[in-house]
Amino acid sequence: MPFMNVVRRHLFYPLWAWKNGHGRLQFLKQYSALQFSGREELESRQLKMLKEMLSHAYRNCPYYRKVFAEAGFEPADLRDFSDMRRLPLLSKQQIQENRDALVADGFYKESLIKFKTGGSTGTSLEVLCNGEGLEKGVGVALMCFGWAGWKIGEPMGRVWGNPPIPSNWKENIRDRLVEPIIWLDTMSLNDAAADSFARAWERQGPTLLHGHAHSLFMLAEHLARKGIRHIKPKGIVSTSMMLVPSERVFIEEVFGTKVTNLYGCEEVGLIACECEKHEGMHLNILNLFVEFIRDDGSPADQEEEGDIVVTSLVNFGMPIIRYRIEDRGIPASEPCSCGRGFPLMKEMTGRVADFLMKADGTLVAGISLIERTLTKIPGIRQMQIVQESLDGLVVNVVANQCYTGDSEAALLNELKGVFGLEAKVRINIVSTIKQERSGKYRFSICRINQHSQPLGLSRAPI
Ligand SMILES: [Zn+2]
Repeated sequence: MPFMNVVRRHLFYPLWAWKNGHGRLQFLKQYSALQFSGREELESRQLKMLKEMLSHAYRNCPYYRKVFAEAGFEPADLRDFSDMRRLPLLSKQQIQENRDALVADGFYKESLIKFKTGGSTGTSLEVLCNGEGLEKGVGVALMCFGWAGWKIGEPMGRVWGNPPIPSNWKENIRDRLVEPIIWLDTMSLNDAAADSFARAWERQGPTLLHGHAHSLFMLAEHLARKGIRHIKPKGIVSTSMMLVPSERVFIEEVFGTKVTNLYGCEEVGLIACECEKHEGMHLNILNLFVEFIRDDGSPADQEEEGDIVVTSLVNFGMPIIRYRIEDRGIPASEPCSCGRGFPLMKEMTGRVADFLMKADGTLVAGISLIERTLTKIPGIRQMQIVQESLDGLVVNVVANQCYTGDSEAALLNELKGVFGLEAKVRINIVSTIKQERSGKYRFSICRINQHSQPLGLSRAPI
């Protein structure tokens, strides 16, 4: 319904944002105007924001006061970006152990927005953000979805886990009038669910398909196998996992449009995204300072893979400075031909999780299972699920001091809720979880014979 799309874009969405005090549309406008500014102009803005953030963190966060003092660093010392290397990195474990000391004076923890994440290494983390910081992140995300061809007010099809269910009529109306989304739940992926998604698509006509990289591939395989050809979005946004080149080609063939690869994390929001030229991912230097570093802490050269380290320029509630995400990326040497001033990252590596399988053959995306277990149950520092057979799961858990019998019962309960009461779940408390030989960590591993799986699951995500 193109007319309704226009009404939502120009009337309902702005009204809803205004009523809720959301500044996202103002930030979208500001960022859209800035995107074709020159690199120097954008970097000088970024350096100014970085100085403000360091001064704020130094004045207001007990953690950074201590860390800066140990490094012999004062915010006034920052003359250019290279001075950032005098500061230590912030690890996931340091966030876990110092959460309260990272919150800035003047912000009440209760007033900040909470993000619980399993991150790229299955490590449970809670990060807080002030409202304006969040809205600036949404502003950038809206701009990037626009690069994929989507406009505010247009319905979206989302291949994702644990879709939110409206709990009252107000939320129901909001969903229809402001952000209409049809969902394919990756916690329960089977032929019937994919067919039902295809029918809903026909009725509602989304213009964008959004989902985890490998889930999009599996949907594409299903549609190709069934000869369903009417799902033709203007754009596709792939996120949360590595986009394997061969899967990308297949997705683009089936849907008849390009895939826009987007990279972000709950801790700092959108980090990089492709534009309509698809020559690499533009780094979000509007809201972040991003570094690529070698194992010895020195900066990676252009075209050399390094650890991705980010500093948020907008989260004043809980400043995140030199956070090592534990993903790796390659800074590109060439600018994008689109003319935008944001530098490019060539590719990101990390984020691997297999699909697991229920007794009836329905698939469960490991990446969605993280939200139901790791980010929800207290006491789990890191975890990994290995499926050896249809009814046998082994869960390796690195526990912290909050892990109790209740945590174990909650974990069993969640897994039996998903895989059925008959499922045999064994929980092993371990001291560490091994990485793959490639150096990557895998949240879920499926060892069932892949040929017997429906929806054409013929290979692991990587
Ligand atoms: Zn570009």
